[in-house]
Order: sequence, then C-alpha cells, then structure tokens
Amino acid sequence: MSELYRELDTPTFRLAVAQFEEAAERLGLDRNLRERLKIPQRALIVSVPVRMDDGSVKVFVGYRVQHDTALGPSKGGVRFHPEVNLGEVAALAMWMTWKCALVELPYGGAKGGVRVAPERLSRAELQRLTRRYTAEILPLLGPEKDVPAPDVGTNAQVMAWMMDTYSQQVGYAVPGVVTGKPLAIGGSLGREDATGRGVADVILEAMQYLKLDLANATVAVQGFGNVGMHTARILHEIGAKVIAVSDAKEGVYNPRGLDIPTLRSRYQSNVRPLHECGVGEQISNQDLLQLDCTILVPAALSEQITEKNAGSLRCRILAEGANGPTTLGADRILEEKGVFVIPDILANSGGVIVSYFEWVQDVQKYFWKEQDIRDRLHEIITAAFRRTLEFAQAKKVSMRMAALMNGINKIVQAHLARGLYP
Ligand code: GLU
Repeated sequence: MSELYRELDTPTFRLAVAQFEEAAERLGLDRNLRERLKIPQRALIVSVPVRMDDGSVKVFVGYRVQHDTALGPSKGGVRFHPEVNLGEVAALAMWMTWKCALVELPYGGAKGGVRVAPERLSRAELQRLTRRYTAEILPLLGPEKDVPAPDVGTNAQVMAWMMDTYSQQVGYAVPGVVTGKPLAIGGSLGREDATGRGVADVILEAMQYLKLDLANATVAVQGFGNVGMHTARILHEIGAKVIAVSDAKEGVYNPRGLDIPTLRSRYQSNVRPLHECGVGEQISNQDLLQLDCTILVPAALSEQITEKNAGSLRCRILAEGANGPTTLGADRILEEKGVFVIPDILANSGGVIVSYFEWVQDVQKYFWKEQDIRDRLHEIITAAFRRTLEFAQAKKVSMRMAALMNGINKIVQAHLARGLYP
C-alpha cells in the first residue's frame, strides 16, 4: 500500500478506491498499474491567507489534486465548501479521470477545493480568496496542463477571477486556462446548464430502454444548485412531473407537480426556505430520497444513499447528478431491488463535455452556435450511454461497473502504451 494512501484515507476516498478495486479486479488489471492508478499523480496543499473586510486575516486551506495526466491536461472543478478535505478532493479527481475517459475526452482528471463556506464571505472577500488560491496553485495550471471549472460553491464569476489571476501572471489573456467562464471572456454558450441537460439526455435514453413514458413520469431532485435546478427545469420543460426538490436545508413537495419556473424565480430572488416559495409543502432531504417516483436525481453531495436508506428508495431510475452519491453497500441493495442506476461519471458528464467544447473554442478562437453545442453534447453522451449499457449487458455487470471498467480501461491502455518513466 502506498504511503500516500494513508494521507488520503477518508470515507469518500475509500469509496472511490473500493469502486476502482472492484472494476480493476473484473478487468484483471495487473498489480503495478493498480498501485499507480489508486493514488493521484500530484497533490498540492496550499494555505490561502485572506484579508477580511474588518481588517483581520483569516487563513484557509486549499487543495489541487491531479489524479492522472496520461491522456492530456487534467480537468476538473474547484469546490468551495466547509467540509472539503484532501481525501475528498483526491476521490473527486479520480472520478474525473474515469469520467473524461468514459466519454472519450482527451483529458486526465483533477479537482480542487478550499475549505470555506462561501456564502459567509462578502463578494470582495470571495474575490481575494479566489485570487490567492489561484496564485498558490498557479504552477500546476495552464491550458495544456490543468484546466479548472466550477463545482459545488463556485460559479462563472469565480472562474473569471481565476482566469484573470492567471492571465495577469503570464502577461496576456488566457481564456483556455479555466472553463465555465462568463461569455464575455471566452465562455461557451450552453455551458451553464450542460450538466443538467446531459442528465436529462441520459434519463430519456434509460426511459426508452425501460419502455417508460415521460408523460407519466414523476421526478424527485435532491439539490437545487447548478445541476439540480437545471435538471428539474429541463425535465419539467419536456413534460415530466417534478414532484420534489430540495437544497442543503430542506425541500418542497407537491404530488401534483411543482411549478418549476415560479419556484426558480422566487428561489433566485432569495426566498428561503424552499417551501416558502409557495409551490408545495415542506419535506426533509431524507424523506425526499424515499419518495415514490419514477426518477430520483441526487444532485448534491457524496454518500447520500447508503446501506441505511437504500432499502427504502422507491424510484425506478437513479440518475446521479452528484459525484459519488451512492456507496458500494447501497449499490448492492439497489441492484437487488432492480433500480436502474445511471452512474455519476456517465450521468453528470455533460458538464465536462461542454467544458471541453469551451476549451476547444478558446484554443481555436472560433465560437460555436448554441444548437451545435447541444447537438454535439447529445451525440457524445447518448453514445456513451449506449456503449455502457451494451457492455453491462454483454459482461453481466452493473451500469456503474460497466462505466468504471470502460473509463479505467482507456487509461490503462494509455499507460501501457506510454510505459513507466524513466
Ligand atoms: N465540476 C464538474 C464535474 O464534476 C465539471 C468539471 C469540468 O467541467 O471540468 O464534472
């Protein structure tokens, strides 16, 4: 066991490694490569001192982890959240490697994070935090090296500050150093709702396979951030009945279907808690997961569906908008119950797929129409869904194992071809 493993040993990292071990075992992967791929290639821990508005200085801790760069620059979001830790960031970086490989992007996987509650900072403090974090991880970054994007607690504005900080250091504008930027500085049309759109695309594929009708489908979404909100909006727009959504605190439920446009506009004008938006009744996050529905979309944090609650889930399809929402123990229970799981690295890959389009547009300095972006996203994600489903059926493995085995195998082939340096 690598020494580094002990430094990373947290529940989320253990989950990512256990998934990897199971897939590696089924692939018959040799021991040497297994040891290499289980731990990240690089992990940087930085201190992020920030002058607060009251004149005091607070020191935050930040991370950037590059799991693998065999196929190209490493790609992955930056998370601002009070519970961020090195093991979690390393797990998320590993999932990015398998995700990018599964959908055939020329990227490795990375993730970053700062342990901070961003909603407690003023805009000026958030900007100073972002710029100092970026400056500290700068040696790792670059359009050909490592390309951050938004994740939990960050957004297009944070990406703009990261892009500016990097560009100030090198002396010219480098839009391709981050994705998920505002349109004004080289962002892409269709990036903001790309993850939600991809989730909806693969749900439609799964419904077709299971011979289910969208007009009779009910949906529950845990999380009302960038992923959950757009997933709910798009599914509502195409005719599904969204019966519940929640944020970090609690949720809102209406068995006749929520008026999503009203909910969205009230929530965006800061009406809190969610059920005060006047579209349904209050429901807890736990009860939401256990609602009788066709499609359940966990779109918040990891390890929400565990051995404790998996037995009480009553959905037909579990579409994982979040990264790592389901533990391995829960997977076994869901398999026995016959729940059709669309695993995270497939279901939420729409975000990084359109990030790839954004990076290509930035590097080529030639920008695409929104319809082209939607069409190409649809093409890539539905092809990946079909490949995964065929593989799962042929090898008699779960959709999660099929996705992981496919992603891992692409990285393995790259390592075998390149060999071990020196
Ligand atoms: N944070 C997103 C994810 O987990 C997007 C990453 C990216 O676009 O690089 O997939």
